[in-house]
Amino acid sequence: MTKSEVLKEYFGYDSFREGQEELIDAILAGQDVLGIMPTGAGKSICYQIPAMMLPGITVVISPLISLMKDQVGALNQAGIPACYFNSSLSQHEYFEAMERAKSGEYKIIYVAPERLEIDSFLGIAEECEISFVAVDEAHCVSQWGQDFRPSYLKIHSFITRLPHRPVVGAFTATATKRVRDDIITLLRLNFPKTLVTGFDRPNLYFETHQSIPKTEFVLNYVKSHPNQSGIIYCISRKQVERVCSALCEAGFSATRYHAGLPQEERKHNQDAFIYGDKLVMVATNAFGMGIDKSDVRFVIHHGMPRSLEAYYQEAGRAGRDGLKSDCILLYSSQDVTTNRFLIDQNDGNPELSESQQKAIREKELERLKIMTFYSTTTDCLRDYILKYFGEAGCGKCNNCSNCLTQCEEIDITNEARKLVACVAMMNQRCSQTMLFDYVRAQSNESLDKFSFTGKKGYGCLKDASPKRLKEILDYLMRTGYLKAGDHYTINLTEKSHDILSETVMLKVTKERKKKMQSKKAARTSSNDNPELFELLRQKRAELAKAEKMPPYIIFSDRTLHEMASEMPLTEKDFLGLSGVGAHKCEKYSGEFIPVIRKYVQSH
Ligand code: ADP
Repeated sequence: MTKSEVLKEYFGYDSFREGQEELIDAILAGQDVLGIMPTGAGKSICYQIPAMMLPGITVVISPLISLMKDQVGALNQAGIPACYFNSSLSQHEYFEAMERAKSGEYKIIYVAPERLEIDSFLGIAEECEISFVAVDEAHCVSQWGQDFRPSYLKIHSFITRLPHRPVVGAFTATATKRVRDDIITLLRLNFPKTLVTGFDRPNLYFETHQSIPKTEFVLNYVKSHPNQSGIIYCISRKQVERVCSALCEAGFSATRYHAGLPQEERKHNQDAFIYGDKLVMVATNAFGMGIDKSDVRFVIHHGMPRSLEAYYQEAGRAGRDGLKSDCILLYSSQDVTTNRFLIDQNDGNPELSESQQKAIREKELERLKIMTFYSTTTDCLRDYILKYFGEAGCGKCNNCSNCLTQCEEIDITNEARKLVACVAMMNQRCSQTMLFDYVRAQSNESLDKFSFTGKKGYGCLKDASPKRLKEILDYLMRTGYLKAGDHYTINLTEKSHDILSETVMLKVTKERKKKMQSKKAARTSSNDNPELFELLRQKRAELAKAEKMPPYIIFSDRTLHEMASEMPLTEKDFLGLSGVGAHKCEKYSGEFIPVIRKYVQSH
């Protein structure tokens, strides 16, 4: 079979995505590879297809134990013999899989890096023909990455113990130049073909909001997107509890995940989300690594994360199936304070010297600043992200809230000067609330305590709304006229004085075009028959329950949408759907075609 035939036969796809073919060709030609592709770009196929075409076995090393079961399940569904070895297997299961592996039953073996050193696993490795080793999440090998795993450093010695050196492929979604070099050096890749595909995810729509009632927004959003699965990220466990309770009390199907919950409950809630029993997951950033759910339609950040790297990774969990999905960030300036607090709390790595820790902290604060700019910019959000990741940028994408928002520039010189003067007047000992109460002449205990009430400038912006003041203060912080100090205070900067001689213009929102409706229309236009789609979804859920599989492993939403609009009534037409390979056609056409037929007859 050719690679295109394997793609169609097993995965049901007609064409390769960007980068896949080049990497597959290199691997088949015996060259090592380094593939850097964003989440959802389709990295797995880059090693699964060679695995089917090369003689012997492919070993896939992955740190994500929770994901292995699903990945192996999905491969088995597609008719590819695969198994996994990790700590979740019982001894009996482990030895059984081992025997089968030795007898050559599997083409792909997933293994956790810790297992590589275990004698029994080395036994298989030495006895069987291993033609290809694929290292997933390869950035874990680098100490400069966010997710360093010491066990990844053992991969090289594992490879050297094999009777024949296999082709080695490394795959990751994020890698700076430094991490990339580490991957090549530490895994000893041999003149690898390195391929970096674009970071853009055109199916994702980006939106930011500043200073709005966040939980109310979340409730309204979930209400207006029924039957859609999504993740809501919060900065703290407390926020997770609050938002999740608010959703549950309002009758929505939601669950929660954070490091403060017992392990068993975390697992239970995660499964409920993955298997579709709960539609919305409210979580801290502890959730998501290794979540491969492809039909997540929205990711809302209830609070701003610490860096754009973290944001893009978390937001990128939306729309892995390529369908339109929303990534919404709700920002408030309090998020900056909370994140600074978290950065300060971080004890850091005890193996690093004080000056190294200081340098890391500064880098983190710099990243936080960049994230804050993203949250408050009025320019194209996608362009901002792409440029940050070193790409050319896209100018105006017309698929983010800023591109769809009409702005006007207003002169805020007067207000800005007054705010800066009042910060100076209070000797930089004011919080945001104190400052706003001061300029608006509102009573405030702290102002009384420090005897600020009634001093120069008190009430100088009496008529300004808190919302507008906040926009102006955010702007002043963003542009460096003011900065956040310790203990939630606002401080002056070297640039503060310049405000006296400069004109300050602020871009404010005029009106946001009605994007949501048009986008929704676009999303459902691929599905001419929402009623049939719903019936097919129910069928899929029923099969998923019976097989104890997440629904998206049976068929993705994309395949289901196509099924609902194409309405195939023969096996041949069913096989023509994207995402339906020979094995799945044989297994499921008899389940879905009757649903379609019944629908057609009754309409
Ligand atoms: P990654 O590991 O890069 O995050 P995956 O390998 O999980 O991404 O792929 C994401 C989704 O894209 C999966 O549902 C996969 O089946 C689908 N996919 C991969 N390659 C193709 C292709 N050539 N055509 C259509 N869909 C694809």
